[in-house]
Amino acid sequence: RKYGLRMEGISFERAILREMPIWHHAQADPKIRRLTNSRASKCLQTKHNLTTVGDAEDLAAVLPVVIIRGSDYCECQDCTELRQDVKCEHPHSCMLRAQELLDTLPEKWDPRAEQPEDHEYDLDNLQKERDEENFNYHLSTTGNISDVFRIFTDPNHKPVNKVPTRKVATTNPRELSVVATDGSCIDNGQDTAIAGAGVFFGMSDPKNQSIKIPKTSGSTALIQSNQTAELLATKVASE
Ligand SMILES: [Zn+2]
Ligand SMILES: [Zn+2]
Repeated sequence: RKYGLRMEGISFERAILREMPIWHHAQADPKIRRLTNSRASKCLQTKHNLTTVGDAEDLAAVLPVVIIRGSDYCECQDCTELRQDVKCEHPHSCMLRAQELLDTLPEKWDPRAEQPEDHEYDLDNLQKERDEENFNYHLSTTGNISDVFRIFTDPNHKPVNKVPTRKVATTNPRELSVVATDGSCIDNGQDTAIAGAGVFFGMSDPKNQSIKIPKTSGSTALIQSNQTAELLATKVASE
């Protein structure tokens, strides 16, 4: 906490959401505490060994079937298996509780909710030419739970728990543009540095641009450097 260590990101891959601990989920609604001391929650912890959001999702997923069949005395295959395998005496109550636990999570942390990854294509399959990189436009943090932690975060900035919409994503990856970007700088690293950026879509394409890096952007002074130039080039290219 001293170094501002916390979980941050625009959105996370479902695999990461599922790895999160359900009983001590930092993002859950505080009312989750009222759910944790009950017969069903005790059973979930001691018999079902339910520890993660993923465990809860899997158990709750059986629920729709159970509701149709009825109660804790239900004799469907799922309930029978829970009685035999984990010695659960009230499978319906436990599934319902798992669902209630998940319901305390904001959308961004709920693997059942629609997530940006549902609209993101895997760019690894796109054909790549030499010296060309596909721009990773994915919003979702991928990997595992340790990739979610960020250090030196700003304590005054409260992370949002809203899920960004990615439905504007192109439906056909082949329509993606190929664009070359470059930034360069004369006297890089010195007071006399002058930086510029270039964006190239193709021969005599009207979208081609060459830009001199301005001294300021709004009230922010722009450092004349290679990095600023490279960044500006990618920004302009994506617009
Ligand atoms: Zn059943
Ligand atoms: Zn149970």
